[in-house]
Amino acid sequence: EISFDVEKIRKDFPILQREINGNPLVYFDNAATSQTPQQVIDVIVNYYSNYNANIHRGVHYLSQVATDKYEQARETIRAHFNAAHVHEIILTSGTTHSINLVASGFSTMLEKGDEIIVSALEHHSNIVPWQMLCEKTGAELKVIPMTSLGELSFEEYAKLLSDRTKLVVVNHVSNALGTINPIEKIIKKAHEVGAAVLIDGAQAAPHIKADVQALDVDFYTMSAHKVCGPTGVGMLYGKEEWLTKLPPYQGGGEMIDQVSFEKTTYAGLPHKFEAGTPNICGGIAFGAALDYMNGIGFDQIAAYEEKLLHYATDKLLEIDGVKIIGTSKQKTAVISFNIHGVHPYDMGTIMDKLGIAVRTGHHCAQPIMDYYHVPGTIRASFSFYNTKEEIDLFIKAVNKAKMMLS
Ligand code: PMP
Repeated sequence: EISFDVEKIRKDFPILQREINGNPLVYFDNAATSQTPQQVIDVIVNYYSNYNANIHRGVHYLSQVATDKYEQARETIRAHFNAAHVHEIILTSGTTHSINLVASGFSTMLEKGDEIIVSALEHHSNIVPWQMLCEKTGAELKVIPMTSLGELSFEEYAKLLSDRTKLVVVNHVSNALGTINPIEKIIKKAHEVGAAVLIDGAQAAPHIKADVQALDVDFYTMSAHKVCGPTGVGMLYGKEEWLTKLPPYQGGGEMIDQVSFEKTTYAGLPHKFEAGTPNICGGIAFGAALDYMNGIGFDQIAAYEEKLLHYATDKLLEIDGVKIIGTSKQKTAVISFNIHGVHPYDMGTIMDKLGIAVRTGHHCAQPIMDYYHVPGTIRASFSFYNTKEEIDLFIKAVNKAKMMLS
């Protein structure tokens, strides 16, 4: 039995004390963004109160403190993902930025006849940059199909791979369904044909501690705001050899070695990919957020969330007309569902009146909705600070909304 004192944890999150429309907040939109503990809020307040300064270029005291803290955060992130080198951690504005950085870099390395494999389970941010890259280079996009359980077909994936495959891009966990993809197998198979692999870890990061060396992944991306950190900051992990090969993404300050009008040379890693003043406070708070979550422990978090998932799934299935979409046995604490005869948007609106925050719509994954022939779903996504009592309130609200709407 794991020890998990959820009531103590909840005290760390000021927002969880709020009321919405006269009801206690039940926050089940964690897959969209996570809430922020006081420990991370304190780091943000402390930064602006005590050592706000630009980094890497000032000789003055505050600049040095800010630089040290920012670089310490990079080391915290490296250690969390077990990267071999700290310069393999590029701080970005988030997953979307990280993916676009890699896609842009590959435009100099692809040509007509090359292929990029994506999956049917992707978020739009792991589809559109690759379509744009294909348009630019003449490369072709291939799609790993999904099954009715919401899983990828590994057999079909293996058939798509060939010596034309230059890149494979798949998410670690689907944001719309919660499916955990077998990325270790996917990466190994891609490497057999010499393709590079980018894993979008945005949805995995709050639940699973990925080890980039054990995975042997070439690129791994995520956003701080999904792991109790602030918005507008995230990371790109890239193997040193790949990051060395890729050209810079944006030009500007910080990313150069020497600049003259005849020729500019670029800075080494990681600065080559970090043009301009970054989100300094956000980067430092990102490190603090990982420290906070590691203080609780990812194994404990995963075990507790799995209990919440099973409890909520069983309760939901007792309601007449409920259909859960995405029923893989390998999934994180996400339930995407519909109720016969009820539009997901109407359901979401009534739930909000009752204080329950869920997501409705296509979840930036329209191809998945097309596959199931639904306009969208209602998505409840749980975090380690949620409780069984909140699930009871949620189930009550679903029943009430269903009565009003059908
Ligand atoms: N990929 C997945 C799987 C996601 O869930 C998200 C966020 N919803 C993103 C990418 C994009 O992340 P961000 O908006 O933080 O750049």
